[in-house]
Amino acid sequence: MAAIVKSAREAFATGKTLPMSFRRKQLEGLLRMYDEGKQEIMDALKQDLRKTTFEGTLYEIEILKTDVKGILRNLKDWTKEEQLPFNALSFTDNASVHKDPLGVVLILGTWNYPFVMALQPLAGAIAAGNCAVIKPSEVSANSSATIARLLPRYLDKDCYKVFEGDVTATITLLEEKFDYIFATGSVAVGRSVMAAAAKHLTPVTLELGGKSPTYIDDSVNMERTVKRILWGKLINLGQTCIAPDYVLISKARQQEFLDVASKVLAEYYGDNWQKNPDLTRIINERHFNRLKKVLDATKGRVAIGGQTDQKDLWISPTIIVDVDPATDSTMEDEIFGPILPIVNVESPEAAIKFIRNRPKPLALYIFSENSDLIEKFKTKTSSGGLCVNDCVVHTGYVGLPFGGVGTSGMGNYHGKYTVDTFCHKKAVLQRGISAVSEKLGDSRYPPYTNGKIKL
Ligand code: NAD
Repeated sequence: MAAIVKSAREAFATGKTLPMSFRRKQLEGLLRMYDEGKQEIMDALKQDLRKTTFEGTLYEIEILKTDVKGILRNLKDWTKEEQLPFNALSFTDNASVHKDPLGVVLILGTWNYPFVMALQPLAGAIAAGNCAVIKPSEVSANSSATIARLLPRYLDKDCYKVFEGDVTATITLLEEKFDYIFATGSVAVGRSVMAAAAKHLTPVTLELGGKSPTYIDDSVNMERTVKRILWGKLINLGQTCIAPDYVLISKARQQEFLDVASKVLAEYYGDNWQKNPDLTRIINERHFNRLKKVLDATKGRVAIGGQTDQKDLWISPTIIVDVDPATDSTMEDEIFGPILPIVNVESPEAAIKFIRNRPKPLALYIFSENSDLIEKFKTKTSSGGLCVNDCVVHTGYVGLPFGGVGTSGMGNYHGKYTVDTFCHKKAVLQRGISAVSEKLGDSRYPPYTNGKIKL
């Protein structure tokens, strides 16, 4: 590990990552990798998660390609030195913000979107002129091996290195000194990374998780609302950091939600969901058992679904009602699977209070046609992102930052925000040396006579 980091550091010291031509070539390499390596990527996603080609194409490859293309289009603009405007007192100076790369950065990815989580941050790190060590998640082992195999074919081998390893190896890797750590994972991973980073005072971005609430106001069209929520909940079989975790709705509209949900699920997946090829699988037995435990322990009523099959790592789309938010197993930790508990709230104000009393979520969803109410949620709640009348889609919306707040994370990325993350904004002031400039500044010199300043 030390050797890997040392060699990346030596590569950075040569200055080869600085020219725009080099950065551009690496980013173009990433794009070629996504095109030429698409089949290998799809195969790995199938082996790890039984992910469909549709989801793999749209939610891994296309997300990555769109992001790199945006960075390439704006590379010069996003990395250029920003000149401060002149004013009457500073006309002899030259003040600017210079965007320095940080050095050697570490990127830790997760298993749920194994390519996006490891490689989307990398594009920004490259654009900002850094070297990087990429550590994909060992949980999605085939995807990790594919990244390790493909990346050196398309990127500079000295500057960009893939490290594969389990949790113990990652903890050891974190003992090395990096110039920045960008980590995606659970809140527990965030704590471990931040503690390790503190030893070297290394700055971090933490992209973490938590329970993302979804409030449905009485004003909505239920058909459209349920379609959007179930889509967002069930892509990747619920293993999405910003999947709607639970629904807050009035008791009066709950039955309508369930009726529409049964209809929509039949439209989406027919009558044998387990056999439907559009649904992914739970990543492994550990996560299957975790979810099964949540299901077995719930005191709520399973209104839809509830079937499990350990051999097939299958948990069916499941909706649970009559949930006591204070005690139910479904309301303890982030679900990260296809189980959707429903909690009844009497009013929008009660929903806001409910959300404010819990850790700040990564995403918050409101379905409402009432603009005053939407405004109220916007100003009275805090979350990484807020998406109104849809879910999950804000993460792929070009131009928006993505990141958490509170326990759901710190820092953000995507497009320009990733490039900013991996730059140090260095204040550069070049003072004038002319007689005029000396005259403008000479009142600071001793002796401190009263005439020089009004006390
Ligand atoms: P994981 O097990 O793949 O771990 C993530 C990375 O952290 C891996 O590279 C792993 O090797 C490393 N790791 C694991 N334990 C560690 C430890 N103790 N110390 C240091 N490193 C360690 O993924 P996970 O944690 O199961 O990921 C799921 C979580 O990630 C969910 O909470 C989900 O919401 C969150 N997530 C967040 C985002 C986001 O963008 N905010 C995206 C995807 C997933």
